[in-house]
Amino acid sequence: MKTFELIVPCFNEQESIPFFYETVKSLLLNLDGFNSSFIFVDDGSRDGTLDEIKKLAASDEKVKYISFSRNFGKESAMLAGLTFSKADYVGIIDADLQHDPALIPEMLSSLESGEYDIAAARRVDRTGEAKFKSVFSKAFYKLINRMSDVKIADGAQDFRVMTRQVVESIVSMREYNRFSKGIFSWVGFKTKWFEHENSKRVAGKSKWSFWSLTTYAIDGIINFSTVPLKISFLIGAFFSFAGLVYALYIILRTIINGSDVPGYPSLFCAILIIGGLILLSLGIIGEYLARIYTEVKDRPSFIVDETNIVKK
Ligand code: UDP
Ligand code: MG
Repeated sequence: MKTFELIVPCFNEQESIPFFYETVKSLLLNLDGFNSSFIFVDDGSRDGTLDEIKKLAASDEKVKYISFSRNFGKESAMLAGLTFSKADYVGIIDADLQHDPALIPEMLSSLESGEYDIAAARRVDRTGEAKFKSVFSKAFYKLINRMSDVKIADGAQDFRVMTRQVVESIVSMREYNRFSKGIFSWVGFKTKWFEHENSKRVAGKSKWSFWSLTTYAIDGIINFSTVPLKISFLIGAFFSFAGLVYALYIILRTIINGSDVPGYPSLFCAILIIGGLILLSLGIIGEYLARIYTEVKDRPSFIVDETNIVKK
C-alpha cells in the first residue's frame, strides 16, 4: 500500500489543533488505498501546542511529531517535515484550517494518475484580508515574476501534495535562507493547480504582521533574483554619464563665457542625490552579502528537541 504523510507546521496553535485533528482525521482514514499519517511540527510554540500534539500521539499511532528547540519559522518547520518524512506522497497544510482539507483526496488522485507531480492550492479571492495587504501582495507577485527566472503564481500557497521525487529535490536544496514559494517553483515538475476560496482561521490569530510580510517579500526577491544589483549598476552608470555630460557643458561654457560662482543649490542637490544612490546601492549589496554570510556559516535550518519519529 502507498503511504501518505501530512505535514502540519504549528506555532502557538493550541486552540486550532483539536479542531484540525477532528476535521482531518476521518478524511485521512477514509483515503482509499493509502496508509496515511500526520507529522505535526511544533515550531517552538510558547503555549500548550506540544502538549496538545502529545495528547493526540498518545491515543493515535498515526500522529507523529517533531518539536523544535525554539521558533525557527514556518519555512524551517516545513523543511523538517519533508526531511523526516519517508512517505510516497507528502502533503503540507496549515494547522488553522484556512486550507481546505477536503481538497486532499482530489490532489492525491491527480498525482496517482502519474500525470502530475505536484498538486498545489491557489487562492483565487482575498476576501477577509485587509485591502492594502492584497494590493501589496499583488504588486509583489508582479515584481518577483519580472525580476526572477522562477515564476510564482499569484496566490500560490504552501498547501500542496507532492510525490517522493519532488520531496527529495526540495530537501536536496540546502540553502539556509529558504523562500519556499520560490523553491517549489524552482525544482520544476508538473503542477496541477487547485483553486479555492479564502476561509477564516478556525482559532488563534495569524503570525504575520505587515512588517514580517514586507521582509518576507524582500527575502523572496533577493533569494531568487540578482536584478536589484543590476538596477543599482544601471542607475550608477546613468548618473556617471550624466555627470560627464554636465562637466563637458560647464567646461565649454567657462571657455566661452568665463567662470561664474553661483550654483551652490544645484551642487547641493547633486551631492544629496548621488550620496543617496551610493548608500542605496551599498544597502542592496549588503543584503546579498548578509545572505552569503548566513549561507557560508552553514547552520542547520532547525534544531529538533524531541520527536517520536524513529529514523531509519
Ligand atoms: N507557523 C509556523 N511557524 C511560524 C509561524 C507560523 O509553523 O513561525 C505555522 C502556523 O502555525 C500555521 C501556518 O504556519 O499553521 C500559517 O501561519 P498563519 O496562519 O499565522 O499565517 P497566515 O495564514 O496568516 O498566512
Ligand atoms: Mg493562517
